[in-house]
Amino acid sequence: MKKIFLICAAIIFMALTAHAEEKIFEDHFITWTNHRDELIDEYTLKHYGKFCREIVPKAVVVHWTAFGTLESVHKFFDAEEMPDDEGRLNVASQFLVGRDGTIWRLMPETKFARHAIGYNHCAIGIENIGGFDGREDLTDEQLAANVRLIKYLHAKYPTIEFVFGHYQQDAARASGLYIEHVADYYAGKPDPGPKFMRGLREQLESDGLKFYDS
Ligand SMILES: [Zn+2]
Repeated sequence: MKKIFLICAAIIFMALTAHAEEKIFEDHFITWTNHRDELIDEYTLKHYGKFCREIVPKAVVVHWTAFGTLESVHKFFDAEEMPDDEGRLNVASQFLVGRDGTIWRLMPETKFARHAIGYNHCAIGIENIGGFDGREDLTDEQLAANVRLIKYLHAKYPTIEFVFGHYQQDAARASGLYIEHVADYYAGKPDPGPKFMRGLREQLESDGLKFYDS
């Protein structure tokens, strides 16, 4: 009898723990209308030669915002359009991480978001509040939050093979994932800095995820 009780207690404990681990982020979805879907169609047809409202995630691209707070960056991504010659679809990412490690999910994870030229068709983006004045100032709490989030994503989407920083976009072409149909459409990026990517690599490479040097 005592043995059965212990087994039941263990099962309940595991269920509670698993549930607790799933709640690693809060949902703060950005505005999503048919118009955003139409802007996505316009962007993906031009840049990837296909419609791509839903992605199969193969990579995670890590960023910093260089400005703002959770609230102000959310507000910035909330607009559906921006004035840009290469497409009216506003930039956004699936996740946003605050300085204290709070994670906001901004849209369903496999929805298309414009955050990394060449990779949006297959990459989930994590934006981190920081990089103010170009400094590598992301916090230990953000590093821990990114590790938790990437572990969650990797477990949920085993198709994810690569993790790279936005500044590693050229090295990441070795992944074979890069697609861009518009010649010379490119923007050099410093985010989120090599220190942060080394931190992620130290804690995630043993999970079988691929990283790039430097
Ligand atoms: Zn970036």
